[in-house]
Amino acid sequence: MSTVNAVKVSSYDEELVYSAVSRHFDALDVASELRPEMRIVLKPNLLYGKKPSAGVTTNPAVLKAVIRWLRERGFENITVAESSGGIFTAEYMRGVYSASGFNVPGIKEYLNRDFTYGSKKTAEGFTVRSFNIITPILEADYIINLPKLKTHAMTTVSVGVKNLFGVIPGLQKPDMHRRYPRTDDFVHMLCELCETVRPNLTLLDAIDSMEGNGPGGGTVRHTGLTLCSRDVYALDMAAVSFMGLTPEDVPHLRAADAMGLTPDRVDITGDPVSPCSPAFRLPDAVKSTGFDDSVPKLLRGPARFVLDRLLRSYPSVDRSKCVGCGKCAESCPQKIISVENGKAGMPRKNCISCFCCQEMCPVHAISVKRGLRGL
Ligand code: SF4
Ligand code: SF4
Repeated sequence: MSTVNAVKVSSYDEELVYSAVSRHFDALDVASELRPEMRIVLKPNLLYGKKPSAGVTTNPAVLKAVIRWLRERGFENITVAESSGGIFTAEYMRGVYSASGFNVPGIKEYLNRDFTYGSKKTAEGFTVRSFNIITPILEADYIINLPKLKTHAMTTVSVGVKNLFGVIPGLQKPDMHRRYPRTDDFVHMLCELCETVRPNLTLLDAIDSMEGNGPGGGTVRHTGLTLCSRDVYALDMAAVSFMGLTPEDVPHLRAADAMGLTPDRVDITGDPVSPCSPAFRLPDAVKSTGFDDSVPKLLRGPARFVLDRLLRSYPSVDRSKCVGCGKCAESCPQKIISVENGKAGMPRKNCISCFCCQEMCPVHAISVKRGLRGL
């Protein structure tokens, strides 16, 4: 059994968020695990630079509250580290921090200044032999994972496990998509990455969440919740139940279950939590076609299996919205996107439906179309 602590928070008011963080850390007795000499690394979600109200990134109020809590207890060796979508350089990350509201007193003193990475071997028997991981994470003594609750076009949701993909440096992330083009293989890789990084604590920002075409182009939904746990899989299970889904609906939780990583029971402490009603709207890329919902529950698995082999989702550019920035081309693992005369073009041939392009498009010019495989 694993414990997930829940605290409701009505807004990003700094005192309210600080009070929630204190309740979580007291309930889980976090202070008992920390020593003053420890290098503590905070890993937020900074998909790309975006103002906090857009619901794409971990809100700076959460970072501020965690840093304040640590400092007030004498823990000063703190680093905020993330590798966003795009390149991993000081200049690029400065822009991301600034656009996301992180360049403010109480956070900016702790922003990572080391843009190197190293390799870490994985456990015996893993599919991936080693991962390249950003140096602050490699050198951390204690990792606090700070995801944002969002839907995700490829992995259905982005919570604690998916947030750790941001420890892979810069444009090596599209390389991982190229190596693991099938969702099932990709989420298996994510679980192996999670087991390699092993965050000590995960604190979820679900005060404002994202539904629909997440993780970058969805709609903000005020959900007023924070969750905290030492067990990232338990936290993800609690989060997807809150979204109105089941762990079986979520590819990485199915993979984690098959790998024996999920707890047999999740005990929710703190504030009572019930599933959102209506449930979170899913991304167009993973939305049910309606057919599998019309068949009995027992047959839904086989129905999905057949549909997945017949139909596929592809990105489609709205040329009237496209500003020709090239972010989609930069992030495409297959290198099939070209920008000509200020507009992006995306052929279906060789597309692996990873939706990195949609994720990174700053003006939401990319939507999803379902089509027969290969056509
Ligand atoms: S076009 Fe988009 S969905 Fe297709 S492989 Fe490239 S980034 Fe992935
Ligand atoms: S990222 Fe979006 S706006 Fe930029 S070139 Fe691609 S489709 Fe156009």
